[in-house]
Formats: sequence, C-alpha cells, structure tokens
Amino acid sequence: MTSTCSLDVEFADKINTLLKIPSPHEAQDYFDKLIKTRQCCGIRIKHDGEYGKGVYTETEFAEGDLVLKDQMLVGAQHSSNKVDCLVCSYCFRFIGSIEHQIGRKLYLQDLGLSASKECVEMYQHTSNGCCPDDSLDGEENSLMIDHESSGPCTSSDQNYKIPLPKEVITSLMNGDLVLPHSDQFPLPSVVPCPGGCGEANYCSKSCADADWELFHSLLCTEERSGTSCREALIKFIQHANETNDIFLPAAKAISFTILNYKKLKAARLENQESYSSLNSSEDYGFSLLLEAWKPLSMGYKKKWWDCIALPDDVGSHDESSFRLQIRELAFMSLQLLKEAIFEKECAPLFSLEIYGHIIGMFELNNLDLVVASPVEDYFLYIDDLPDPEKQKAEKITQPFLDALGDDYYVCCQGTAFFPIQSCMNHSCCPNAKAFKREEDRDGQATIIALRPISRGEEITISYIDEDLPFEERQVLLADYGFRCRCPNLTINSALRSSAIILSHKHIAGRSVEHKAMILKVPPLKFCCGRRKIYKLFISHLQLVPNQRMSKYE
Ligand SMILES: [Zn+2]
Ligand SMILES: [Zn+2]
Ligand SMILES: [Zn+2]
Repeated sequence: MTSTCSLDVEFADKINTLLKIPSPHEAQDYFDKLIKTRQCCGIRIKHDGEYGKGVYTETEFAEGDLVLKDQMLVGAQHSSNKVDCLVCSYCFRFIGSIEHQIGRKLYLQDLGLSASKECVEMYQHTSNGCCPDDSLDGEENSLMIDHESSGPCTSSDQNYKIPLPKEVITSLMNGDLVLPHSDQFPLPSVVPCPGGCGEANYCSKSCADADWELFHSLLCTEERSGTSCREALIKFIQHANETNDIFLPAAKAISFTILNYKKLKAARLENQESYSSLNSSEDYGFSLLLEAWKPLSMGYKKKWWDCIALPDDVGSHDESSFRLQIRELAFMSLQLLKEAIFEKECAPLFSLEIYGHIIGMFELNNLDLVVASPVEDYFLYIDDLPDPEKQKAEKITQPFLDALGDDYYVCCQGTAFFPIQSCMNHSCCPNAKAFKREEDRDGQATIIALRPISRGEEITISYIDEDLPFEERQVLLADYGFRCRCPNLTINSALRSSAIILSHKHIAGRSVEHKAMILKVPPLKFCCGRRKIYKLFISHLQLVPNQRMSKYE
C-alpha cells in the first residue's frame, strides 16, 4: 500500500546532504547578504544557542515604522483565487483595469455557475466563440471553477447577487464600457507570458522576464508544446487544483533550483574551460546542485505528512492513516511533476523525501500572500463621494456591485515563503506584525513595528491571535508544536504561519464576514489546502476496510 520512491533509495546520501541544516556560520553569511538586498536597514539575523535563529534590531524603531519588506523566495496565488483576481504572476500586483477585473470576475463566475449546474450549456457557451477576450484563451483550463469546494477564501455563492446581461460583461472586459472615476485607480496593463501559455500574466516586461528566468520557463505549458511533457504538466496542474494547490509553489521551488543549477553550471563552464575534465565529474555536479539549492536549504522544514496539523474532525485513531494518505497524495503529485520536468542532473530533487520537505516548508513557514484589491478601493471611493456626484456614479456602478455581491472585496491570496520574515520568532506580546499599508500593493511581506523597539531587541510577531485567553493560546500553540512561555521568553522560530492583516473599511450595509476571516489568524491557512485534503481523506477512508486500516496504527 505504501509507495516507495526509488530516488529516495538511490540518492539517500545526497538527499541527507541537501536536507542538512546549514551551520550558523553559513546561515549568517547567507542572511547578511540577503538583508542587503531588502528595503530594511537596521535588522540582523542572529543565532542564539537555545532558541536558534532570530531577527534582531541594530537600530531603533518607532511605533508604526517599517521594519522589513521581504521579497518572497517562492510563492503562488491560490488556484481558487484566480477566478476573483487577475494579478501579476511574479509580483502579485493587480493588473488590467478596474473594468477588466470586474468584467473578468463576473464572466468567470458565470461560467463557473453553469459548469457545475449545466455542463452542456457551458460547452456551448465556450465553443461558439463568444469568449470576449483573447487573454482568457487557455485561462479557463487552468482555472479551478469549482463551487463545491468554495471555502472561506473563495468567493461564496451564498450571498445575494443580481446577474448582469452577458453583453454588459463583455463590453466591460473589452474596454467599451468605462466606469465613472475608474481613472483614479489606474492599473498596469497586462503583459502576457512570453511563452504564450495564456496562464501567466504580468504587470511589466521586467516581471515577465524575471519569472521566466527564475521559475516559469520550466513550468510554461506552451513552451513544452508538442511533447508528452506538456500533457504531464497539464495533468500535474489539474491534480494540484483538484487536491491541494500547495503543490504549485512546491513545483516552482524545484523549477527554481533546476534553473539556478543550469545558470551556475553555464557560468562555471565559461570561467573554467581548462578544467573541463573536472567539470564532468559527478561530485562537481552535486556541488553545483547544493549551491543552487542553498536559498531553499535555509528554510525550516519537516516532511509534509509529518508536520501537517490533524484536521479537527479526524480522530487520533485515524491519524496514521491520515498521514499515510497525505504521503500518497504527495507521491502521486510528484510522479506527474517528474514526468513533466525531470532533469537527470538534478535527480535528487525529484525524490519524495525532498518534495515532502519542500511542501512541509510552505506548511510550516508561510506567511500568507495577501494583496488588497483595487476593486474594493474603487467601490469605497464611489461610496465616499459627495452627494450629487455619488448618485450620478452609483446609477452606473450599483448594478456591478449588486452582481458581485459581497465578493467585491476579495483580495489576492496565496502561499509564499518569505526567507527573512520566516526567521522571526513568535511572541504573545509581539513588538511587530505583518501589516499591509495603503501603499503595499504587491506580494512582498511588510513587517511594521507595533511599539517603539530599542536597539538590540529581538523582533517578534505573533503566529496566533494574541488576544485570545491564555488557555486558548496554549491549545493553538500546542497544535503548532510548542508551549507558550510568554511573556518572558519567545519561542523558537518559524513554526507556523501568521496572516497578513489588511486594514479594512467597508461599504455600509454589506457584510464584513469575509474580512473577519482575514483578520483572524488561523482560517486563511486552513481554508484551501486542508479542507480539500480532508474531503479527499474522508472519501478514501470509506473505501478502506477497517481491518486494513488498523495495520497502519
Ligand atoms: Zn509584476
Ligand atoms: Zn507561460
Ligand atoms: Zn505566549
């Protein structure tokens, strides 16, 4: 029943080397260099014998000061969120226009509704050429239009919406219809993927080029056209969309390492042509792979199936079966990815051991990727207009607000790994927090001082809702693998995600439930992945006879 990964056996030694925790000296060196590339002066990563890594100040911060803007190493928008928000696949800024954002969302919501209710109608709809915009070609395939699984972070269909005629949506998308005051919210125009896949879109050529160079050239479905790789890649993406979209950033992490390896190799070959005999040796190749892997080696990791928190409704007697199921799911995903982008020289990366640890790194370290929506700002702006203008504008905008329902403010959400932020330790009385200000409109993590912080003090954030009573905090933190010893001590780093908090206003009379979900800490993390996994697990459990299950316990 348990699948074995032959690469785990073949490359056991190399895998151990890749997963070795970097020495404090190595880590120090890496982070000192990395911090120089960030918009932050006056912080340093230091090692403390007892609690491991931590982030410390080298200057003073006043309340509200920006402590750190951290660029993600790897990240991806949630599959389900792609229906709601069109963002740059590299920096996660919203792109297109207010009209395009609204039109596209209504168009896809419409498709999604008919997809679950009347499949035939949807096929007729998409095949008779009434797709209103070229940029949507191919996009429909990659989007997860799935209504059953809509958790708290997808648009919910329960809220009341008044649909609009298709022609109106079309004219909104192709630019014929311009909404009043939308020029107050200009967005960068859409730059399509240079490979032509139609699935990745960018805010600028520089983002398109950077993404291509770092991640996308190996994961672009169009680039690999005509080969069996392309089909495998599409299958891999579909599998991730249907089971757990955490596989998508994991694939990006592997692609990143392979491309980095190739770059290092090319650079070395150029500089050391005379040593060509050395270059071909296997050890030499592995030393390059180790270097290419270095940024990922710095992240705290455990195997996904070992560290994933048990869903509330899986009893402890089902735990081993649950964990096995998670491992099988990762194995299945890895086989598809291997078929799509396997690279012999980087073979250890395709072992289940490494894949499991990469996914575990996202599970343990991530601060969720959150970017506020300009569509929300637009409707708030209209709502705030003085009266004659407001009435005039609302005559046009109200039907769109009614068609969007409470989904008008859905923000961009995803999974990401932020290397420096992930070194910050937890405290129930933190001196900093992840907070997106008005001007923070891309996928970077922003850490703001909550109170004055003196020189040499450790910067801490809360992984959980620190306003909860002590007992509840204990329960939550226990789930995260440690006991709270606050306020005297902070707890060793990088154990769990905390949510980025958005500052929110809302339009009078509209529900703010969705925002409450964002403001509370755990739900964002629990929404997409775990719910779906759990569903899958339950349906599988019913198929496994009880006697066989007891074998795993
Ligand atoms: Zn961008
Ligand atoms: Zn592409
Ligand atoms: Zn505490």
